[in-house]
Amino acid sequence: MSSDLIIARDLARYFPLGGGLFTKPTAWVKAVDGVSFSVRKGESFGVVGESGCGKTTLGQMIVRLLEPTAGQVLFKGDDITHLNRRELSPFRQKIQIIFQDPYSSLDPRMTVTSIITEPLLAHGKPTKAHRRQVAADLMKKVGLRPDDQKKFPHEFSGGQRQRIGIARALCVRPELIVADEPVSALDVSIQAQVINLLGDLRDEFGLSYIFISHDISVVEHICDRIAVMYLGGIVEVAPTELFISDQRHPYSATLLAAVPRPDPNHRIQPAAMEGDVPSPIDPPPGCPFHPRCEHAFDRCRNEKPKLINVTDEHAVACFLNDGQGGVK
Ligand code: SF4
Repeated sequence: MSSDLIIARDLARYFPLGGGLFTKPTAWVKAVDGVSFSVRKGESFGVVGESGCGKTTLGQMIVRLLEPTAGQVLFKGDDITHLNRRELSPFRQKIQIIFQDPYSSLDPRMTVTSIITEPLLAHGKPTKAHRRQVAADLMKKVGLRPDDQKKFPHEFSGGQRQRIGIARALCVRPELIVADEPVSALDVSIQAQVINLLGDLRDEFGLSYIFISHDISVVEHICDRIAVMYLGGIVEVAPTELFISDQRHPYSATLLAAVPRPDPNHRIQPAAMEGDVPSPIDPPPGCPFHPRCEHAFDRCRNEKPKLINVTDEHAVACFLNDGQGGVK
């Protein structure tokens, strides 16, 4: 039996621009365009890329907050792509999300107990005493004082609010958590604490993570594998250590080169990257990275490279790695 917990197959999400009730859209934003990957049980899978690369849209399709335009999401082999609300209910319990902003993702009018145990209401009618007990246990697990159960979100710091969000995600004993930029709104000193907490909880609860971030230095600490997204597609996937030591896509090299390293022997030769990310409304022909890539050659401008395996666990979408050695 496959150990894959979740499989994404050719997932795509296009957003219409313009148009109305009786008129067609004038253009489409291809936020995610044909993304495939799988996450194993107990694995942390990192998705990194610049703002606007489609990583948040991808995460929202996995938890079914967004309907895919095309493609499939399979959870433990079951296709959950087109399930209706009722059919989706047992899967919602298994797949939870932690949002980026601990300030706006918590209802300011609810007590911590109500927030943390709210997901229980979708799966039964828990008593007040049960909710209080569950909240107290989870607050202890995530490093909050159970005595603070009756407090409201504004009475907590940013890091504590994110811990409340994590406790809420854990409440229904999920198997997969999609963590969408879970530490980017926090002070640097607090980020490490929350990352360590997520790592500890993974070990204790046997969780899998899809960890979405613009910051490779955050992802590399907690993830077993890293996928790099650029303009709606994955351009490289590899186990974390291999990715750090032998990244093959020029875009990955540039992202890594931007991370400060204390080890002077750890040198990565970055590819030059100029200009902004092209618009997903009108992506460039050929390799989407070619307008910013110092290695681009004629083929890159006319043909889109496929994500191909360079080893069993390492896949890259770049002609420099397709066995033809960058034939011009
Ligand atoms: Fe650069 Fe060409 Fe590789 Fe794209 S395919 S990353 S343009 S070398």
